[in-house]
Amino acid sequence: MQIQKNISLKTYNSFSIDVKAAYFVQINHSDEFPALIEWVNQHDLPFIILGGGSNILFSQDYKGLVIQINTKGKQCIKETDSDYFIEVSAGENWHQLVRWTIAQGYAGLENLSLIPGNVGAAPIQNIGAYGVELTDRFDSLKAIKISTGELKHFDKAACQFSYRDSFFKANLDQYLIQSLVLKLPKSPDWRINYEGIKNKMGSQPLSAKLISDAIIKLRQKKLPDPNEIGNVGSFFKNPILSQAQMDLLRQQHASMPSYHYADDQVKTSAAWLIDKCGWKGKSHAQAAVYAKHALVLINKGAATGAEIRQLAEMIQASVHKKFGISLEAEPRIL
Ligand SMILES: Cc1cc2nc3c(=O)[nH]c(=O)nc-3n(C[C@H](O)[C@H](O)[C@H](O)COP(=O)(O)OP(=O)(O)OC[C@H]3O[C@@H](n4cnc5c(N)ncnc54)[C@H](O)[C@@H]3O)c2cc1C
Repeated sequence: MQIQKNISLKTYNSFSIDVKAAYFVQINHSDEFPALIEWVNQHDLPFIILGGGSNILFSQDYKGLVIQINTKGKQCIKETDSDYFIEVSAGENWHQLVRWTIAQGYAGLENLSLIPGNVGAAPIQNIGAYGVELTDRFDSLKAIKISTGELKHFDKAACQFSYRDSFFKANLDQYLIQSLVLKLPKSPDWRINYEGIKNKMGSQPLSAKLISDAIIKLRQKKLPDPNEIGNVGSFFKNPILSQAQMDLLRQQHASMPSYHYADDQVKTSAAWLIDKCGWKGKSHAQAAVYAKHALVLINKGAATGAEIRQLAEMIQASVHKKFGISLEAEPRIL
C-alpha cells in the first residue's frame, strides 16, 4: 500500500474536475485492507472511499485521504435449482461485470448495462435503470467496519435498499464494501416494457445480450459519454410526492408526469420540472444543462466543481419557486 501526496483527481471523477487530494491511495488487493484500516484509524484525517468517481462532485480540493478501491475478482460460487450466485470484488467495473455475466450465460443484469462506475458503489444508491434495481438481483455483501476493522455480512434486509438509497448512503464512509454476491435467476425475468426497449430489439428471439445491446443503444443516444463530456448521469433524484400533493399540482400543471411509487405516493420526473423552468441547454460559466436531457449537468471543458454546484443550486431554487418541490441531488457533493 502506497500513500501518495497532492494527487490530481481529474482522471478519477467522471465530471473531470481538476481538484487535488492531499493524500491518495489505491487498493489493488484485499490483503491490503488491514494496513489501510490501521492507517486510517491512526491518523486524524478525513477520508473518503472512491470507486469510479461517476457519482461524486468535488467542489474543492480534498484535504484528507482518498481511498480508491481497485480490487478485482468475479466467480460463480453457488448454484441452486433456481439461481446462480456470483461473487464480485468491489473494484470490478460494473458494465464489464454485466457483459461478463451475459457471456457466461447468466441473465438478470442486462437492464443495468452501461451504468458507469464500480461494483462496490452499486449498493450505495441501489443503482437502477430501465425497470431493474440492484436490489432485484442482490443476495448479500461483505463490508469492513472502518472504526473496528471487523468484516461484516449484510443480507438484503440489512442493506435497507430503496429508490437510489440504502443503509450505506445514510452511513457514508463508515463501511468499506469489499464484495457483493448477486443472485441471478435461471428462469428468464425479462423486463422490456420500458421506454423504447422493444423498438431497439428487432424481431430476434429474446436474450440477455439482445436486451443489453438495445439498452446500450438507448443510453448512448440519450446520455453523454463521460469520456467525452464530463457528467455524472442524472444529477437529481426524481421527487416522490403524496397523491394529494400531485392532485393539487396537476390542477395548475395538467401534463406533470406521475408514476405509481407506493401506497399513496407517486414519483414525478425531475427532468420535466427542470425543462419547464427553462434550464435545458443553459450554461453557468463552464457548467451547463445537457441540451438533450435536462437531468444531466455537464462540464463544458474547464468547469470547476463550484460552478457545477452553483448551477445545481440555481436549478433547485427555480424548481422550488415554480412548483414548491425540493429537488435532491443524486451524486455525493464534497
Ligand atoms: C453517464 C452516466 C450514467 C449513469 N446512469 C446511472 C443509472 O442509470 N442508474 C444509476 O443508478 N446510476 C447511474 N449513474 C451514476 C453512477 O454511475 C452510479 O451511481 C455508480 O454506481 C457509481 O459508481 P462509482 O464507482 O463511480 O462510485 P463513486 O462515484 O466512486 O462513489 C459513489 C459513492 O459510493 C461510495 N463508495 C464507492 N465505492 C465504495 C466502497 N467500495 N465502499 C463504500 N463506499 C463506496 C463513495 O464514497 C460515494 O459516496 C450514471 C453515471 C453516469 C456518468
